[in-house]
Amino acid sequence: MSTLLTEPETFRDTISTVDKDGKRVWLYPKKPSGKLYQYRKYVSYALLTLLFSGPFMKVNGLPMLLFNIPERKFIFFGMIFWPQDFFILLIGFMAFILFIILFTVVYGRVWCGWVCPQTIFMEMVFRRIEYWIEGDAPKQKALDKAPWTTEKIWKKTAKHTLFVAVSFVIANTFLAYIIGVEELQKIVTDGPAAHTGGLFSLVLFTGVFYGVFARFREQVCTIVCPYGRLQGVMLDKQSLTVAYDYERGEPRGKLRKNQVRTEGDCIDCHQCVQVCPTGIDIRNGAQQMECINCTACIDICNSIMDLVNKPQGLIRIATEESIAEKKPWRFTTRMKSYTFVLVVLIGAFATLLITRSNIDATILRTPGMLYQQTDKGTVTNLYNITLINKTDEELPVTLKLLSNKGTIKVVRNELVLPKQGLTEGVFFAEIPKSDLKTASSQIEIGVYSGDKLIATETTKFLGPGN
Ligand code: SF4
Ligand code: SF4
Repeated sequence: MSTLLTEPETFRDTISTVDKDGKRVWLYPKKPSGKLYQYRKYVSYALLTLLFSGPFMKVNGLPMLLFNIPERKFIFFGMIFWPQDFFILLIGFMAFILFIILFTVVYGRVWCGWVCPQTIFMEMVFRRIEYWIEGDAPKQKALDKAPWTTEKIWKKTAKHTLFVAVSFVIANTFLAYIIGVEELQKIVTDGPAAHTGGLFSLVLFTGVFYGVFARFREQVCTIVCPYGRLQGVMLDKQSLTVAYDYERGEPRGKLRKNQVRTEGDCIDCHQCVQVCPTGIDIRNGAQQMECINCTACIDICNSIMDLVNKPQGLIRIATEESIAEKKPWRFTTRMKSYTFVLVVLIGAFATLLITRSNIDATILRTPGMLYQQTDKGTVTNLYNITLINKTDEELPVTLKLLSNKGTIKVVRNELVLPKQGLTEGVFFAEIPKSDLKTASSQIEIGVYSGDKLIATETTKFLGPGN
């Protein structure tokens, strides 16, 4: 049977960073250390490298990732997606959301603690700058309380200067993902007057990032982030989360010399609370909305257990059920059905990606035109063609009739598809009258680049009939 630790659970009525008068409680989390923190560092180095190098990486001569919202152009791994490909992006986005939900149901908030850019920048970049300049939590607290001495002035100036510099770098990277690294270089090299909009965006993003990481901090996770606030709906007793084993730890009690211990394994040292970046006490119960599953409390509690010669894992990654009922972890029906839907969605997304054509052709009969008969015994129809090139190379194209004998004559210029662009043209399709059995027939037209057929399109051909 599960043991309630706090009767009633009043800790869920308030958040740790706001006092009873509604004022912000500034947190000074202790500097984490331990095996899991070391792993988190490695993960964050890999992700930060990926994030900052992303705009410079090219696939097929195109950026690896580009989210050009103003021009409605998106590039993923060198593939350009136009508004016409919106449904592919939509399926990809749905698969991604479901992936996050499934992951949360099964593995809790691994995303929040280990992968989310907010946590990575806050805990692995800004917080570490703070520890480096101001020292660990007690020193930070003392510095904030101290009068404005020379030491305090230089430490605060150094810290905030570095914060602004890092925010500026993040803002540049963010902008490079939107407008592309070449456009960003122009903003930097052309001078401010030529790109006031771009410069304004840079200043704005820098200000926002600085504000979030220097002041707003963990409030993003506990107050703003919709994913964080949805935890209560997604998690259940079989989800893996960072959890305190109250069956083993309670009743908690301080460690006293020369006393036979009758309490549980928790020595009530408060280290797990002091290290928590969101200021909560994990011992209040699992699945607290503020817990981002960063695992810092696991590391510190393991080190305490080592000190008092108790087995590690008083705080560990476990399900609520496994702690309360000592049951092993199970792959539930809900997890199975989520996995099935996820596999179907990923399959559909992959199929759409693989079968997506790089050239889109639209051929329509020119409005208001019927057909013409020639002295040679042929019939002609006039068409308008629109071609979209999703590749990064210019393509001269030719048109051929695939379904009938006959020819195609492009009016005026040749059709040349600009890279990542669109071209329009007008052409005649000419078919021998003897080949036309009905007044209206379907014809198939092939779009060729050199000898390579790159798109086929079916359209209507009108004739006198027989
Ligand atoms: S760190 Fe471990 S032993 Fe110390 S208070 Fe937290 S749960 Fe108890
Ligand atoms: S309770 Fe533990 S895992 Fe959760 S946020 Fe605090 S330190 Fe991280």
